[in-house]
Amino acid sequence: MSTYIFGHTSPDSDSIIGAISLAYLKNELGEDCVPTRQGDISAETQFILNRFGGKLPELKTSYAGECVYLVDFSDLSQAPKDIEQATILGIVDHHKLGDITTKTPLECWIRPIGCTNTIIFEMFKSYEVEIPKDIAGMMLCAILSDTVIFKSPTCTKIDTNACKALAEIAGIKDYKVLGMEMFIVKSAVEGASARELNTRDYKEFDMNGSKIGVGQLEVVDLSVFDDKKEMLLEDMQKMKDENSLHSIAILLTDIMKEGSQMLVISDDDTKFESAFDVKLEDSQVWLDGVLSRKKQIIPFLQSKF
Ligand code: MG
Ligand code: MG
Ligand code: MG
Repeated sequence: MSTYIFGHTSPDSDSIIGAISLAYLKNELGEDCVPTRQGDISAETQFILNRFGGKLPELKTSYAGECVYLVDFSDLSQAPKDIEQATILGIVDHHKLGDITTKTPLECWIRPIGCTNTIIFEMFKSYEVEIPKDIAGMMLCAILSDTVIFKSPTCTKIDTNACKALAEIAGIKDYKVLGMEMFIVKSAVEGASARELNTRDYKEFDMNGSKIGVGQLEVVDLSVFDDKKEMLLEDMQKMKDENSLHSIAILLTDIMKEGSQMLVISDDDTKFESAFDVKLEDSQVWLDGVLSRKKQIIPFLQSKF
């Protein structure tokens, strides 16, 4: 019976490529592993798969009775509904430790660095397994995506070193150009519905009993949202009602200006205002220097609940 490897709901490139790269490593080590995904992939991930000839992991949302490895998350709110009926063999992640527990001992690789694929790169090194060219290229892209081409405060020397080594294996000279190409693909918002945009990179968190949704859209120029904020806010109100959320925030991140316009619909605006020491105007505020949800948003918000 195969073991499944998958990342969080609303999978990003790190979740998809992490499943692929870890499954490759595990197979090389003699474990029969299959990469899967919990949802549709983004245009950015599609770009990476096309570029390096990667195969799209199969969609699988139910894991009762299966053995699994988790990549890029450890929160129940980002897991399949029946995760408690699965045997979790291991977790590879770079987020705060979530609320998933296991019945059996597990392999755990959790580090406070920029990307799960950096940790998987370290695992390849530690097991002395060679990384194939195509997988190296995809891992490189996942790290460039998660670290916002090294601009994110989550990025460490370990991430930049991994990128250098992976670029060499993949035969890519100017990988920052590749990163920009990828972010231009990611920036496409024309024709997308408000719901599609709000859920493109969306996560829910349980903060001391309150359900908080935080989405993020990273673009190279924030002006693409000039005529879209109204529709995003309207849909955020709907998402809040549908999912009984205490709050929902969407970060419109400008990777060139290096900051985020935060849109907020909340039962209590003051939680956001005090967390970031700002005043919301028309349900929004500019947060200068804020690029990372996990490092610059979630901990500050959590402390208010
Ligand atoms: Mg992720
Ligand atoms: Mg990640
Ligand atoms: Mg991200």
